[in-house]
Amino acid sequence: MELEVKQHKKGRLFVISGPSGAGKGTLCSEILKEEQVMLSISATTRAPREGEIDGKHYHFLTAQVFRKMIEEDQLLEWADVFGNYYGTPRKFVEEKLEKGQNIILEIDVQGALQVKEKLPEAVLIFVKPPSMQELRRRIESRGTENKEVREKRLQEAARELEFAKKYDYVIINDDLKNALNDLKQILYR
Ligand code: ADP
Ligand code: 5GP
Repeated sequence: MELEVKQHKKGRLFVISGPSGAGKGTLCSEILKEEQVMLSISATTRAPREGEIDGKHYHFLTAQVFRKMIEEDQLLEWADVFGNYYGTPRKFVEEKLEKGQNIILEIDVQGALQVKEKLPEAVLIFVKPPSMQELRRRIESRGTENKEVREKRLQEAARELEFAKKYDYVIINDDLKNALNDLKQILYR
């Protein structure tokens, strides 16, 4: 049977969270190849990593511009994560959902709970690493953060994992193929 996103009048909203290094980005980029879902591009005040493109990976903003967006209620949710602001531009998400487009938000636990509060029909998916040891290995092998930032993210991971029980689904990203399959089952059910 061909798996297909069921036609709803409005698009469906999926929220994916999990500790840094759990594999959210990897899973999302695989899912996006299927073209039945779109990723919302977040705004952030963190500096771009090497290879990251403004408007594609994030909208990279100054703290001043970000605060203005908060004041003007332009963000569906926002949070301070690891000392930087991150938020979801409201207009893009609302317009796409209205047109029937399915949307994925890849955001932290604080943001996910704000979304669930505002849009209870949103489906919350938590991606867990198989162990803390493997999480450390993945963050180190990704090589995108310095030691200090990596340690901060690992400390935060333990706190974030506590939030998994508030999510609709938990995926353990041990074998990537299996995890991707689990995600597809949730998206295309
Ligand atoms: P996140 O977006 O959650 O911070 P990433 O998608 O950047 O995490 O993944 C962190 C690192 O782990 C990357 O180097 C990625 O290639 C690797 N990775 C992701 N999923 C797996 C997996 N199932 N097995 C092994 N390595 C993985
Ligand atoms: P990174 O700096 O690794 O790209 O992201 C760090 C954390 O910020 C991740 O947990 C990611 O899910 C979260 N994040 C990214 N965009 C948003 C957003 O728009 N809102 C919130 N609340 N968190 C976000």
